[in-house]
Amino acid sequence: MRTISILGATGSIGASTLDLIRREPGKWRVVALTANGNAVELARLAREFSAEVAVIADEVRLPELRELLAGTGIEAAGGAGALVAAAARPVDITMAAIVGCAGLAPTMAAIEQGGTIGLANKEALVSAGEVMTAAVGRHGATLLPVDSEHNAIFQCLAGNDLANVRSITLTASGGPFRDWTAEQLVHATPEQAVRHPNWSMGAKISVDSATMMNKGLELIEAHHLFPVSLDALRIIIHPQSIVHSMVEYRDGSTLAQLGPSDMRVPIASALAWPRRMDTPCAPLDLAAIGELTFRAPDETRFPATRLARQAAEAGGAMPAVLNAANEVAVEAFLAGQIGFTSIAAMVEDVLSCYTPRAPASLADVIAVDAETRIKARSLLELA
Ligand code: NAD
Ligand code: MG
Repeated sequence: MRTISILGATGSIGASTLDLIRREPGKWRVVALTANGNAVELARLAREFSAEVAVIADEVRLPELRELLAGTGIEAAGGAGALVAAAARPVDITMAAIVGCAGLAPTMAAIEQGGTIGLANKEALVSAGEVMTAAVGRHGATLLPVDSEHNAIFQCLAGNDLANVRSITLTASGGPFRDWTAEQLVHATPEQAVRHPNWSMGAKISVDSATMMNKGLELIEAHHLFPVSLDALRIIIHPQSIVHSMVEYRDGSTLAQLGPSDMRVPIASALAWPRRMDTPCAPLDLAAIGELTFRAPDETRFPATRLARQAAEAGGAMPAVLNAANEVAVEAFLAGQIGFTSIAAMVEDVLSCYTPRAPASLADVIAVDAETRIKARSLLELA
């Protein structure tokens, strides 16, 4: 029996993780399940999986959660401190699946236990960068990438020395607006942006896929997980989302990982690592797919990857600034406050007006994140 905690259990990654756990009865014991505000769904999951503790980040919902779990023996807790405390309970594997920098403190708490972390929450690593990778080293924790591209790269690197890597190529579907003109992009709506052609995901990452900021964040994520030079990290558009990423070696061999566009594949790879487990995903039928195509990204229509590369090159606090500005801009876009093309424009404005000191600790990263949000919101008010 292995123990698991799922941070962000009510989200898309949380649901896919629990779907795999559900298919292996008797093999898993669920310790903590967490959610932001949906007490009903959290309580339902906590009951189904007989979790030890259920944590609702929005403390206002705690009485409701308590009531829903009354008589079950499942502990109910609420608030940011409870989230961190639950994440610090020792487990065999923690699935870090909260969206945004909100997942940073609980993910760091899991890292400080020296356990294994399945990392879906890319914003946490983008923001904290070396603060997180240093903590992983210091506490002997293991980060297993769950993001499909990074999981692919991790698999393609198995048994190889990074020194032999010539380049790493992240594939990108290009999102729902891949073939839209610059003029059409100005009028793209939130409803259109969240309708991803290949993947079913949470709203924030769906918008990030549409702007290509998702690939920008993934470039920074890859830079921390697989420390090759930034020049050796490439991005290519691959509309079918079948090749999840590639590693090119110095002898001219390129290794790729292929699979269906279903997050249960990379999640299963992390859950079972270094072994393998079954998934219910339909086997890849390449004859039916027929063609796998590739093309270069267009940073004129989609400037986000250029901004991310610049933030990565600048280093220090700039990736955290990029991420926080993007989180505020995406929220504003989803709320109908700004247009689609204003998302990248706003990130660029914040990056150019704000250069905080490089963070040296978790508290510093959280401070940069909070200050950047204030800057970004003040730009929103001027707009
Ligand atoms: P989602 O919006 O579906 O779920 C997010 C989860 O985080 C929910 O459980 C929510 O309750 C919780 N949450 C949100 N805000 C919170 C806060 N302030 N405090 C505490 N908890 C909070 O998101 P998702 O699509 O599952 O994505 C989760 C993470 O995984 C993101 O970082 C995303 O980039 C990454 N990821 C997702 C996919 C995917 O296919 N969905 C693929 C790769 C990576
Ligand atoms: Mg990805």
